[in-house]
Amino acid sequence: MKALSEDADLDLVDLHCHSTASDGILSPAQLVSRAKSQGVTLLALTDHDTLGGLAEARQTGDQLGVSVLPGIEFSSRWGRRQIHIVGLNVDPTSTELREAIALRERLRRERAERIAERLEQRGFAGALAGARRLAGDGVIGRPHFARWLVQAGHVEDSARAFKRYLGAGKVGDVKVDWPQLEETIASIQAAGGSAVLAHPLKYGLTRTLLRRLLGDFLGSGGDAVELLCGRQNPVQTRELRQLLESVAAETGRSHVHCSVGSDFHQPEQPWRELGCARLPEGVEPVWKLWHT
Ligand code: AMP
Ligand code: MN
Ligand code: MN
Ligand code: MN
Repeated sequence: MKALSEDADLDLVDLHCHSTASDGILSPAQLVSRAKSQGVTLLALTDHDTLGGLAEARQTGDQLGVSVLPGIEFSSRWGRRQIHIVGLNVDPTSTELREAIALRERLRRERAERIAERLEQRGFAGALAGARRLAGDGVIGRPHFARWLVQAGHVEDSARAFKRYLGAGKVGDVKVDWPQLEETIASIQAAGGSAVLAHPLKYGLTRTLLRRLLGDFLGSGGDAVELLCGRQNPVQTRELRQLLESVAAETGRSHVHCSVGSDFHQPEQPWRELGCARLPEGVEPVWKLWHT
């Protein structure tokens, strides 16, 4: 894990965002330019299951004076549920990490074929070619199918595409054996990175299950939890913070390191604009782990 210099500019930190390397709309260069104009000083690019955008993002970051950290948002599982685990400050050359990425590339390719088959059975001819075209060189995901369904005039917008065809329990919701939480944490840590539980409030869990997930994540050696993902209701943030403190005590930790990010995917979504979230006073930021 690369050390962050003591004088690194941590004025505005965003540790979760997406480019065209996965399901974002902006190229890595465009994304970093936008981050710069939003005042972001430290940015982690965390595309789904790929580091494909990193080199371009870093190049633009060097030109514009934005520090770009290598990151990735790994598709993972907790029991039967799909969860996301962000790896921050990973070594992009790590063999273990490369293997974890290659495995997910295959799982995504196979899933795309199955999603397309099912959509075609529903009469949506050309889904695979259409989604692949929209994914371009990036890793393919459900959002590319959603955008294709919109472009082909089958549905008005991506949100409806998920609601009708791609979301939980719908025809295109193909189950994938993503690697389990423990294995995902291990892949990230083998690459010297910090494993961060992404957006714990977005899995639709009851409070009891959320507590259990946090406990399992921290109990399995997870490094940090995303306390803020995009613009968040302050009451929810406070409650999550309290829950984290209580779970931390149970797992024998004095505190839990916290991460923050926008989960930016595209312009015109002000609730997840780059740099839109800041950690509250008094929490231990994940970047403390990277100081020498
Ligand atoms: P995948 O990684 O291919 O399973 O696709 C998951 C991605 O789809 C998430 O990272 C979001 O960017 C996007 N997504 C999930 N649910 C929705 C939704 N209801 N509407 C629009 N986009 C969604
Ligand atoms: Mn996404
Ligand atoms: Mn996610
Ligand atoms: Mn994300």
